[in-house]
Amino acid sequence: MTPPATPIRANSPAARDVAYALHPYTDLRAHAENGPLIIARGEGVRVYDDQGRDYIESIAGLWCASLGFSNDRLVAAATKQMKELPFYHAFTGRSHGPLIELSEMLVERAPLANGGAAMSKVFFANSGSEANDTALKMIWYFNNATGRPLKKKVISRVKGYHGVTIAAASLTGLPANHKLFDLPIAGIFHTTTPHFYHEGQEGETEEAFATRCADDLEALILREGPDTVAAMFAEPVMGAGGVIVPPRTYWAKMQAVLRKYDVMLVADEVICGFGRTGSYWGCQTFDITPDILTCAKALSSAFLPISAVVVSDRVFQGLADGSKTIGTFGHGFTYSGHPVAAAVAVETLKIYDEMDIVGHAQRVGPYMQAALKARFGAHPLVGEVRGIGMVAAVELSPDPAGRKNFDPAAKIGPRLVKYGEKHGIILRSTPGDSIAISPPLVMVENEVDEMVERFGRAVDDLAVELR
Ligand code: PLP
Repeated sequence: MTPPATPIRANSPAARDVAYALHPYTDLRAHAENGPLIIARGEGVRVYDDQGRDYIESIAGLWCASLGFSNDRLVAAATKQMKELPFYHAFTGRSHGPLIELSEMLVERAPLANGGAAMSKVFFANSGSEANDTALKMIWYFNNATGRPLKKKVISRVKGYHGVTIAAASLTGLPANHKLFDLPIAGIFHTTTPHFYHEGQEGETEEAFATRCADDLEALILREGPDTVAAMFAEPVMGAGGVIVPPRTYWAKMQAVLRKYDVMLVADEVICGFGRTGSYWGCQTFDITPDILTCAKALSSAFLPISAVVVSDRVFQGLADGSKTIGTFGHGFTYSGHPVAAAVAVETLKIYDEMDIVGHAQRVGPYMQAALKARFGAHPLVGEVRGIGMVAAVELSPDPAGRKNFDPAAKIGPRLVKYGEKHGIILRSTPGDSIAISPPLVMVENEVDEMVERFGRAVDDLAVELR
């Protein structure tokens, strides 16, 4: 049986959590019975609970703590900035050192924009959701400013994940983000998930499936009217939807359709950015040249909240023209480019350069993929092991040969997560009982072995329960 929850003692931290905290992404009724897992501290790729038990963090928190859960240089960078200038804003042309340095570093490191030129400017926000909402508002603003007021609809993908604010949640293609929220808002459409394992048809090659995905996109644009479709938002590799690596030739074919109809591409690099897929950007892994790039999470190694929207010169010029007409670009957050968060991000990017984060991911990534395949490739409870670089998924299945999923009501993934806790590993279940693996990027080979070992014991326990 799934390990029983420990009873919640009166007045304990767990009881106070249940009494006062409303948790994101949690079954709130079940939480009242089960209580929280309280994490007290972190070190390297591990976190420790309030009882002192250690867990390997197989998902870097929320795919974000790329340098792990301790780093003195980031602490020092934050402390120094807090002493020098704890807050200043960027409204009405105000600026400060960390914002300037981080903007320059991001433009220097950004992938090429649509058209082949370098990216041009950076706007800062505090979360991936805010970055994506900002990108959408920029596109609407741009199309109004450039005389195309009808070009406003947006396409994303079923199972894509772009966040939880009203526009970002609408772009997200997962039922839990829409149901009871009255979402998606009008004008947002979801196209085919590029998951060959499930969506590919009998006898179809991966390339033919990629063509079909691009044909679906074109049909959607034509149905809605190209003059009304402004943009597509997409993660180079889908993360929270289940780590879905697109089929070969997918991105070349998708981009050809978008360009044919002058539909902008927003690359959501919130998970893929900063080495995760084995290149600095997911865009580089798949030869994507976006109009706008959004990033967050590993931008500061998650030590402080910060996200960025990197725009091409074409986009910037449209925004600049619009702002001249109106007198301002009327968008921005109090904490856009917060100096302490920006200083930590600058230091994070310097650490990535010094440790050669891309080289590291290119070395450890294939090792991790091979270790997962070796442990789970033929496991009777596993349908597919997939991934690229340092992001992967192990999809649980009651019938691997038939590529079947469990009934979602059985909550198989969440049950596995509980076994993971018993064996000292934090796991993350995504839709379709796909267990996502996205460890701190600093993870080394012997830690990969330990992670896979603990993960394996959890899957074996679940298999025994389900026998
Ligand atoms: N985009 C992607 C690809 C993400 O994975 C996430 C979060 O997981 C977001 C956007 C939203 O980011 P945030 O939770 O910081 O709003």
